[in-house]
Order: sequence, then structure tokens, then C-alpha cells
Amino acid sequence: MAGVLVFTESKDGKLKKISREALSIGRKLAEAAGGELAAFSVERGAADEAGKYGAKKLYVADAGAYNTEQYTAALAAAIEQAQPAIVLFGGSSNGRDLAPRVAARVNAGVASDVDRLEWKDGKLRARRPVYSSKVFATVDVSTPAMATTRPNAFPPEEAAGGAAEVVDLAFTKVEPKAKVVDTKVPEAGELSIAEADIIVSGGRGLKEAQNFSYIRDLAHAIGGAVGASRATVDAGWIDHQHQVGQTGRVVSPNLYIAAGISGAIQHLAGMSSSKHIVAVNKDPEAPIFRIADLGVVGDLFQVLPALTEEVKKARAH
Ligand SMILES: Cc1cc2nc3c(=O)[nH]c(=O)nc-3n(C[C@H](O)[C@H](O)[C@H](O)COP(=O)(O)OP(=O)(O)OC[C@H]3O[C@@H](n4cnc5c(N)ncnc54)[C@H](O)[C@@H]3O)c2cc1C
Repeated sequence: MAGVLVFTESKDGKLKKISREALSIGRKLAEAAGGELAAFSVERGAADEAGKYGAKKLYVADAGAYNTEQYTAALAAAIEQAQPAIVLFGGSSNGRDLAPRVAARVNAGVASDVDRLEWKDGKLRARRPVYSSKVFATVDVSTPAMATTRPNAFPPEEAAGGAAEVVDLAFTKVEPKAKVVDTKVPEAGELSIAEADIIVSGGRGLKEAQNFSYIRDLAHAIGGAVGASRATVDAGWIDHQHQVGQTGRVVSPNLYIAAGISGAIQHLAGMSSSKHIVAVNKDPEAPIFRIADLGVVGDLFQVLPALTEEVKKARAH
């Protein structure tokens, strides 16, 4: 028991960024533990990319579209076969949903939303934010150990290697108690905040739904995704998939621009680990300025259009 198994998600053979991140840290852990890196997928076509990130084997299950119960059965079969010391899940909605269920099924410990991982004295050592990211807890998980990785915390790094060897998994299919009745696809071309390098987020300071155009214009110009505070989601100005924070998504982009957002603790819990934070707020006392690297005290309806214009000019050169 020394290897690492990573639950991966892909579309048409292309791995999600969060899966590439999990494979990259998985490879380092496997090296430290003296074992092999393997991946789990429902797509045979993911073998090339999984190999590119260091996986020697790809366990493929014919489990169809995501369903917690079906995937739990399939992944438990992969764990039974691969006998890994560590199982990693990229911290997507699916990964975060699946990890505790699989952990309970195979009687393993799980550390969630981790931003550091190392193999230490035969255990998985993980760092995870607690109390809305006010403090970090370092935990040791005995093997088999599981963890979900925080988006953007582990840089994806390719390894030299060919396609992973595909291993078809046999598992007993279940009749799921919960069924997917509808799937909403984001508008074409819209970046997901979970994967974006740059996020431009709007808050209640926008005053009304249609003013999200100020956020979208800047996001388009700068090549970023549109984020939002819960106040705007609760007001029905924008979909929940854009919400950043404790009850939304946890993000760590390279650049987070917060406009008209006060910086409540529940919002900070979702974005305080961003590499660079820029805040635009007309209140100089707004708490967001305490964690901002660059603060603009001003009216967002003046600052954002000016910034958008400057970005467009700079990009035109
Ligand atoms: C259990 C729980 C979970 C929660 N989860 C989340 C979560 O996941 N995410 C989240 O965001 N919140 C969450 N909240 C809500 C959170 O406490 C705040 O209420 C929310 O974040 C406030 O959103 P806001 O900053 O957009 O609005 P406000 O706090 O109202 O701030 C608006 C800001 O806009 C500024 N402003 C106004 N006009 C302008 C202008 N013209 N130009 C520039 N600035 C302007 C104001 O100065 C103010 O600072 C949660 C709360 C609870 C209790």
C-alpha cells in the first residue's frame, strides 16, 4: 500500500484543471511514498492526458454521467483493485460530494479543501483552512488517506511519460435513489470561477441586476470569469454558480477584483487565498481593504469603465 489514486473528471478526453492539479500533487506524493500514480475516470479517452501528468494506470468505469451512488460503487472497486495509500479528489462540486461518501465506504479518513499535502512518517499530512479561513489546521491522516484539493493550490505540472495503461473496472452497478432531472450548462464562452486565473466579482454596490454589465465588461476585456457576493445571488441578480464564499465556491485565482463588495467574513472565506486582490469600494472603512493588495476608494460606476478601457488599450498593443 504505497500508491496514489486520483479521481479525475474530463470532457472529450481533456482533463479538468482541478484534476490536472490533483494528479500533479499526487505524483509527488507517490514518489515520496515509493509507489505509483494511478487515476480513475469514466472516459477511456482520458488516458493520454492522465499519462501526461504522470499516471501509469487509468482505471476506467462504465459509470455514465455523475451520480454519487454509482461513482461511489465504481471508485470503491478501483480502490479495492489498486490498494492505494492515498486517494485524492480535485475539489470540484463532484469531488467534494464524492470524497466523504467513498471514505465512509472504505473506512478511510478524509481531509477536505486542503492547500498543502506531504507524505510524512507513513501518513498523509494535510493543511486545511478552518473557521472561515481564519486559521489553518495541519492534520495527519492514517492510510488509506483521502483528501480533496483546493482549486489553484497545486500548480499543474506535466511529467515525461506516455499514455496511462487503461484498466477496465468491473463493479456492481447500483440503482441510484437520486436521479438527475435537469442539467444547466453555463452560457457558451462563459468561464467557470472554479478554473479561472482572473475573477472579477460584483457585490450589492452594483445596486441592480443589469449593472452586472460593468463586471462582465471588465471580465471580458481582461479574460476573466464573473464572480458574485451572496447578497447579489440572493437578490436574484445572478446565478448561484457565480457565488464566491462559504456557501458558494472557494477560489484562489491569480487576480481577484472585488467591486462593491464589503468583505464580510463569509465572502473572504472563499477568496482570501487569491494571489493578488484588488478592491474597489466607495467606503474607505470597508473590511475588504484589510486583505486587498491594491485598494481603490471610489465609485465603481466610474472606476470600472475607466479600468476596462485601460485594459482594452493595453491588450490592443
Ligand atoms: C451562513 C452564512 C453564509 C454566507 N455565505 C456567503 C457566501 O458564500 N458568500 C458571500 O459573499 N456572502 C455570504 N454570506 C453573506 C455575508 O455575510 C454578506 O452579507 C455578503 O457577503 C454581503 O455582500 P456584499 O458585500 O455584496 O454586500 P454589502 O455588505 O451590502 O456591501 C456592499 C458594498 O458595496 C459598497 N458600495 C456601494 N455602492 C458602491 C459604489 N457605487 N461603488 C463602490 N462601492 C460601493 C459599499 O460601501 C459596501 O461595502 C453568508 C452569510 C451567512 C450568515
